[in-house]
Amino acid sequence: MSAMPLEVLQLGHPKLRQPARLVDDPNLPEIQNLIDDLMRTMKQANGVGIAAPQVGVDLQVVIVASRPTLRYPHAPQMAPIAMINPQITDRGTELMKDWEGCLSVPGIRGLVPRSSEISVAYQDRNGNAQRRSFCDFVARIIQHECDHLQGYVFIDRVETTRELISENEYHKLLIP
Ligand code: ZN
Repeated sequence: MSAMPLEVLQLGHPKLRQPARLVDDPNLPEIQNLIDDLMRTMKQANGVGIAAPQVGVDLQVVIVASRPTLRYPHAPQMAPIAMINPQITDRGTELMKDWEGCLSVPGIRGLVPRSSEISVAYQDRNGNAQRRSFCDFVARIIQHECDHLQGYVFIDRVETTRELISENEYHKLLIP
């Protein structure tokens, strides 16, 4: 296991715009190492999720790890989940708009409509098939990370560029 966090690619890097490939065998050491590297990189950057393409790896691996952080002080706490080959199989009809940011798009927040309830089929890090439902902020993280696996970033999903704001202005919104 390497000890250093990986470099997170920034908007404009072509690897952020490429679709990721299916993982054949989650149990391979390189996939297990990738999961550990992603977890470490996400934590070090105060993220609540990360996708393999953000570190230049074109494989369908994401980490979902909602927790209160400096970047998302109101996020719910959960045990981190590695999702391999995730597929959103169902989406509720209700869309909710909320602010998103991305480790690959520093300094910018955008108001993004997402389904407030989803079901996801994926393999866990042991290779076991899972199917789970998620709602609200965690469902939002999963939709954001699954977008990365298709070469999309959140700024592609805003309804208008007027709903893109700076990180500084976003933090002003958090103060009641
Ligand atoms: Zn992102």
